[in-house]
Amino acid sequence: MALDYDVVVVGCGPAGSLTAKHIAKSGANVLMIEKRAEVGSPIRCGEGLDKGGLAKMGLKPDKKWISNEVKGAHVIAPNGTTLELKEGMAGNEVGFVIKRDIFDKVLAKQAILAGADIMIRTSAIGIIEKEGYIAGIKAKHMGERLDINAKIVVGADGFESQVGRWAGIDTTVKPKDVYSCFQYDMIGIDIDPDFSNFYLGSCAPGAYAWAFPKNEHRANVGLGLQVAKIKKKGEPKQYLDAFVKSQKNFSKGTPIAHIAGAVSVCAPIERTVGNGIVLVGDAARQIDPITGGGIVNSGIAAQIAGKVIIEALETKDFSAELLTKYEKGWREILEDKMYRNWMAKEKLATLSDDTFNKIIEAILDVQVEKITSLELMKAIKVKYPELVKEFEDLLT
Ligand SMILES: Cc1cc2nc3c(=O)[nH]c(=O)nc-3n(C[C@H](O)[C@H](O)[C@H](O)COP(=O)(O)OP(=O)(O)OC[C@H]3O[C@@H](n4cnc5c(N)ncnc54)[C@H](O)[C@@H]3O)c2cc1C
Repeated sequence: MALDYDVVVVGCGPAGSLTAKHIAKSGANVLMIEKRAEVGSPIRCGEGLDKGGLAKMGLKPDKKWISNEVKGAHVIAPNGTTLELKEGMAGNEVGFVIKRDIFDKVLAKQAILAGADIMIRTSAIGIIEKEGYIAGIKAKHMGERLDINAKIVVGADGFESQVGRWAGIDTTVKPKDVYSCFQYDMIGIDIDPDFSNFYLGSCAPGAYAWAFPKNEHRANVGLGLQVAKIKKKGEPKQYLDAFVKSQKNFSKGTPIAHIAGAVSVCAPIERTVGNGIVLVGDAARQIDPITGGGIVNSGIAAQIAGKVIIEALETKDFSAELLTKYEKGWREILEDKMYRNWMAKEKLATLSDDTFNKIIEAILDVQVEKITSLELMKAIKVKYPELVKEFEDLLT
């Protein structure tokens, strides 16, 4: 069987649905394919989303998919010293704790209402190439082989993306640039519903642990481990169990869901387009390298991808040269911060518990609302001059 579309989008996560929506609005024929039987399920996310980021994705808050609204974040040192960050200072993951399964379904519905078609239980298994251009997707729909011919293919197939690799785009990530995550949806715990919590240090080697509250007795409690630091299979779950046990307010709780997944925390990759192909979201490794949060960045990239793909369809130019406008567009907005955060992540992954304790303690002494990296360094210098050398390269 064969189908013909202007654009085929592989993957119905936020990146895929938002890209499809923007393209479909122009009247182009778009098909989204999703390998799972249900969009958004099972959830593989901490469900943290910041309010400012939502607007950058071109979305408005909607009670349908908001579980809880938080006022800020607690950053917790290994010795328990807690830094309180009010909303606005708290970075990419704070604002809402969402219902990610419903969020993804709402975005897919928006794309469908804009005119996009969708096929679930449909896996991309390869690409169709014609005269040096990617010209569609080889797929399997409920066991049946299917060719989907398209002028442009959008690879929005998430962390495990294959579409880019099939098209000869290098999306490989080093083990030190991947967090392997394990998370429980925990009930029967005690947690302040106004704050998301980030735990630093050896509880989660190379990354961090988190607790994002859904209400005062329920939260997503999880952690990531830098893959390069994992010694044996099953370690992320073992670390999470040890972490939960170590926290009095969590240890009495019960997990009602186990969630495992991975995120890339790499520097921006070299290329995200080719002739007839565009990669968006986790497939393009657009995740924030410090937090591992990727929903907002995928939404920002999706809008740019949509705009450039409409131009390509209008001008009938599907070349990498034209599609590079997308590449330039997302890099202009995201690249500097991604690169800076990747450098910071590299440094943070090397710090000892003692150093984390000292840093958090030093920050407590400055007015956090006004903090800049320079002020932070000054504060650390006053208390722990020996630490400043460690961070010099981040400030140049
Ligand atoms: C444990 C964990 C916690 C996280 N917590 C947060 C958080 O709190 N906040 C945040 O912002 N980000 C978080 N992230 C990252 C976030 O989930 C991703 O950045 C986000 O989902 C990226 O969206 P996407 O559309 O690019 O990819 P995805 O949401 O992964 O969507 C990709 C889709 O493609 C489909 N697919 C894959 N291969 C194929 C194929 N061959 N054929 C058809 N379909 C295919 C998949 O089934 C999936 O539906 C977390 C990730 C993990 C693993």
